[in-house]
Amino acid sequence: MPQIDSFSPIRPRRPNVYTGSPLDRMAERRADAAFIAEARAHPHAIVAPIWRTQSLFLGQAARFFSVAETASFSPQEEHWIFLGYWEQRPVFAVDLNQHEEPQGLLPGDGAAFADIRGLGGILPVGEASILAYARGLIHWQSRTRFCSVCGSPCVPQSAGHVMHCTGCGTDHFPRSDPAVIMLVLKEDRALLGHASRFPEGMYSTLAGFVEPGESLEEAVRREVAEETGVMVGAVSYHSSQPWPFPQSLMLGFHAEGLSEEITFHDAELADARWFTRDQCRNAEAHGFRLPGPDSIARRLIEDWLADEA
Ligand SMILES: [Zn+2]
Repeated sequence: MPQIDSFSPIRPRRPNVYTGSPLDRMAERRADAAFIAEARAHPHAIVAPIWRTQSLFLGQAARFFSVAETASFSPQEEHWIFLGYWEQRPVFAVDLNQHEEPQGLLPGDGAAFADIRGLGGILPVGEASILAYARGLIHWQSRTRFCSVCGSPCVPQSAGHVMHCTGCGTDHFPRSDPAVIMLVLKEDRALLGHASRFPEGMYSTLAGFVEPGESLEEAVRREVAEETGVMVGAVSYHSSQPWPFPQSLMLGFHAEGLSEEITFHDAELADARWFTRDQCRNAEAHGFRLPGPDSIARRLIEDWLADEA
């Protein structure tokens, strides 16, 4: 596979959304029951509720519960997950999935449950990160109720960070699936695709999951070739982003296109085209739109646009 040493990295100009957590995760204290009980009793503990993947918002800000506010629906011990300390205050996620309706859970001040993806791009950095962390852990717990080794029920341990099998004793840990996401560049143009599951008119970077036995660079080249037939040479790492929708870790790259012709699309991709910087800067005028402002895909494009010599 050709390698081109002159392909210079495009550096991230600001942190990705869902990164920049203010939490000290204190992972080494999760199994300390006395420590966790003390944190639970803290008068100023912060609670991030998750109901059916949704977080609680008041206007355009996260709406956390105080511990006192959780008393009305008293979540069971197993539904609390310790996330860490935010300055001097412990932070917990609480899983409300067992409630059929969210109405009885609302604090009555106008706060409502909604998908973080609708607000992720404008939430304060720390809040977006905490809500994404909470959502990812609770999703993982909900999918780890039975042991993948022996099929017995699992129970949360270590303040929610381990799912322990009651049969064979295997401890299951939270998973993040690595996915490569790449902006392929050739001269002044970038390769963007429209997947059939995307909103109408949206073109984004190509992406795909890393397969077993594959390096990140190999995954980038394989995915681009599979989806568009374009050959990729040098691959340059940009940044990463937790993407708990439901459980990915996005690994972002710029990649050098060695060929231009888009020869085929796989079933997932409805269209792929080369776009100039001018087209990307004025996407609407050119009849398309870029991916959401919270996505690393958008950052890969924006940092390329800003990198023009
Ligand atoms: Zn088991």
